Amino acid sequence: MATSLARLLPELRACTHCEPHLPLGARPIFQLDRRAPILLAGQAPGRVAHEKGRPFDDASGERLRAWLGVSRETFYDPACFAILPMGMCFPGTGAGGDLPPRPECVARWRRRLLDALPRVTLTLAIGQYALDWHLGRKAPVAEQVAGWREGLARGLLPLPHPSPRNQRWLKDRPWFEAEVVPALQRAVADALA
Ligand code: SF4
Repeated sequence: MATSLARLLPELRACTHCEPHLPLGARPIFQLDRRAPILLAGQAPGRVAHEKGRPFDDASGERLRAWLGVSRETFYDPACFAILPMGMCFPGTGAGGDLPPRPECVARWRRRLLDALPRVTLTLAIGQYALDWHLGRKAPVAEQVAGWREGLARGLLPLPHPSPRNQRWLKDRPWFEAEVVPALQRAVADALA
């Protein structure tokens, strides 16, 4: 039987499991409520999210909300969206940008937290690490996202990361905003209805 969120959240907020690897220390960033019908499965918080204590309160979040077709109020309503990154603390930066989510976080938390979200009917997997884990196979982001119709049929929509760094990826694939975004907005509206 799944452990309730009410029991998991105090433990999660206090988690320091991989803190020796975290340059700014442990600060899990998430938004979880058992009523949420939509799960946003992201990568890991960046430095801004770490400092604000809030996910997607930046340019990536603005683009993501535009893709979803929702206001900030709806996006940050935990009864609408659960936000659960693959790694919940800022992992630091390397030469190519932010480091990957800490793998310890998936092992320690992911299954238990997903099991405590019984009302999720639509999962939006965002970016390489979330795509690989939720789709159960490793493949380039473009290949994963190209399979969006099959994913959506089972309530799992693969998305690229909305970061401004991905502008070129989006420009090279106009089908994403022409076909996937309208389908995404319909699916979100249906899940929230
Ligand atoms: S990244 Fe995850 S496992 Fe590591 S300290 Fe943060 S919440 Fe705990």
